Amino acid sequence: MNSVRPLEEILKVMHSREPADIALVERAYHYAEAAHHGQKRYSGDPYFLHVSEVAYTLAEMGMDTASIVAGLLHDTVEDAKVSADDLKKEFGGEIYALVDGVTKLGKLKYHGVERHVESLRKLFVSTAKDLRVIIIKLADRLHNVSTLKHVPKEKQRRIALETLEIYAPIANRLSIGKIRGQLEDYAFPFADPEAYEKTQALIKERSRDSEKRLEKIYRAIQVELVKSGIMGVRGEYRIKRTYSLYKKLLKHDWEIGKVFDISAVRVIVPTVADCYRALGIIHSVWRPLPGRIKDYIAFPKPNGYQSLHTTVFTGDGAIVEVQLRTEEMDREAAFGVAAHFAYKEDLAHRALRPLPSNLDWVKEVSQLQKNITASSEYLENLKMDFFGDRVFIFTPKGDVVDLPQDSSPIDFAFAIHSDIGEHAAGAKVNNKFVALDTKLQNGDIVEIITKKNARPSKRWLDYARTALTKKRIRAYLDREAGKKN
Ligand code: MN
Repeated sequence: MNSVRPLEEILKVMHSREPADIALVERAYHYAEAAHHGQKRYSGDPYFLHVSEVAYTLAEMGMDTASIVAGLLHDTVEDAKVSADDLKKEFGGEIYALVDGVTKLGKLKYHGVERHVESLRKLFVSTAKDLRVIIIKLADRLHNVSTLKHVPKEKQRRIALETLEIYAPIANRLSIGKIRGQLEDYAFPFADPEAYEKTQALIKERSRDSEKRLEKIYRAIQVELVKSGIMGVRGEYRIKRTYSLYKKLLKHDWEIGKVFDISAVRVIVPTVADCYRALGIIHSVWRPLPGRIKDYIAFPKPNGYQSLHTTVFTGDGAIVEVQLRTEEMDREAAFGVAAHFAYKEDLAHRALRPLPSNLDWVKEVSQLQKNITASSEYLENLKMDFFGDRVFIFTPKGDVVDLPQDSSPIDFAFAIHSDIGEHAAGAKVNNKFVALDTKLQNGDIVEIITKKNARPSKRWLDYARTALTKKRIRAYLDREAGKKN
């Protein structure tokens, strides 16, 4: 059995030192502890352990106090039967909204239906009116996936796949590299045990002597930099994470010799100028591999990642990647967008730092969607569907379909399957029967009732919002008209 994360540890790593913030976290900690009293996890651990770990992760990332508090409370409504009103009364509207957002995201389930993956990711994005909700959800998933071995077998694979398909890519887009890497490595063995074993075996074979070699070159780099007057150097060395190595291996037909960044040394120096100077010093001592020098400082990756990368011959027959960055870049690489929230708390005293350009990821997601579905039908719909706001509608199983605003159950039915559309007899929204011209709201759970003898009618064209639905209805009506003639 593991023990609950003590309050003191959360308080120690959290960003704010304001007495009011500390008192609030303390109050939420005890409130959640009482609310989950007697509840157990699959592992046999007290349920409260889970929320204490989620809060710790958020505090460690530098998230604001409201997020840490919401992390503590995130399962109280869903799993501990605390009423929404009570939570609002105790902790106020902002924190309630965060908890509610996390609870809603929790209802999303990935059932391995490929065509829904992008919708699911977009749903997260659309919920991101408050990005903090997503980040809390990532911290929640991180702890859940770290304890996946205790979860019933039949659920493990679904959760693991969902983590790889939905959560990790979102963490990546938010440039929360540390969480992304952990999510992937926890999920990988359950998502694809064979590939995991194969990758692990390759890593083991390789890493036998590379740890020692890495430490040696890391020390040598430090000495060279200090000799040249670059002080305050810090760093670490690592073997590439299992899942990210696996992805590289797939690209290179499992030829590990073609993966140049299996081992990397990370060197953190005080300033940007030091990064470039350090690169010069390193190249003058160790010969670089041609074509492997990457300047992500001048040209950041789309998710905002910055560093200088080079790969050098170590002189004892090996190669190693060296990454050079500043403290700030290192923090950004680990915690991305999350690293910016804490600064909001200092608003009263400091100018607000602008949000990073990597928030362009929202745009990027739309771009991605466009590339995936750039069929002629999609382009035809682009004008109408793409620029309008979207609503995200759930099937009773939790699959999600995204539709333009003001869509009706008819649109939903045809988006699921043309057969369902053509035989729709009625619809339930959130378990209540509704008319087929009802305008669906974001987050509605819709069930279509079909009957064998139900048929599309001309009137449905008035309810249809998407070009796809109209096209299908027209095609049906034309077919019927053809039969009669
Ligand atoms: Mn949870």
